Amino acid sequence: MRPLIAGNWKMHGSLRESVRLAEGVREGVPGVDLLVCPTFPHLHPVAVALLGSRVAVGAQDCHAAAKGAHTGDVSAAMVRDTGATHVILGHSERRQNHGETDAAVLAKTEAALAAGLVPVLCVGETEAERLAGRAEAVVSAQLEGSIPYGFVTSGGIVAYEPVWAIGTGRTPTEAEVAAIHGTMRHALVERFGPAARTTRLLYGGSVKPGNAAGLFALEDVDGALVGGASLVPEDFLAIARAVPE
Ligand code: PEP
Repeated sequence: MRPLIAGNWKMHGSLRESVRLAEGVREGVPGVDLLVCPTFPHLHPVAVALLGSRVAVGAQDCHAAAKGAHTGDVSAAMVRDTGATHVILGHSERRQNHGETDAAVLAKTEAALAAGLVPVLCVGETEAERLAGRAEAVVSAQLEGSIPYGFVTSGGIVAYEPVWAIGTGRTPTEAEVAAIHGTMRHALVERFGPAARTTRLLYGGSVKPGNAAGLFALEDVDGALVGGASLVPEDFLAIARAVPE
């Protein structure tokens, strides 16, 4: 399967900076799919800047409802309408800062699929959960609770992002990443059948040009979700070039 390198730009940058960033990565990397996820107001201009390129655009969240009295929220169809094709859902910053439960993430994922968006569903344990030996159980429960029917056949993507590795410069060992990705693959195949062997499983959490190749060499690591390093075009492209040919 073609690997995917996705950039989560979070709440960074002016409109001009986001468009420049998009222009900086639009050449892409042969053999690798790229996705960039700017803040809502930058989605359409970034999608326009990337027209005709192989770099896809995604949002960082969407609402579960199709429409209605939800002040400040954005529906999946509105995201799709900007030219975006993907949406990150269940990021740990949303789970922590906005109290998003697995049930809420499930509802958003269903809304994304209904609107024709590809969800990039994030799961991952806290440091306390890992230290308690519960990482695999936590991730399995999140997958079970937040992935709807139709996810696999619609090309849904899963990102394993240990909460303690996000923005900290720390990463699990390669063996720990391989173990969780193996568990996720097994759980998805058990539930959805052989089609889930082609579901892309990304690793996220302090991925940099220097550690990317080791991560991408692991079985069942099909790319990365990148935060900080995705804000520097050279670093983002260097991570994509670290994918084995
Ligand atoms: C993220 O927030 O999705 C992320 C992976 O961040 P960073 O790469 O900065 O750790």
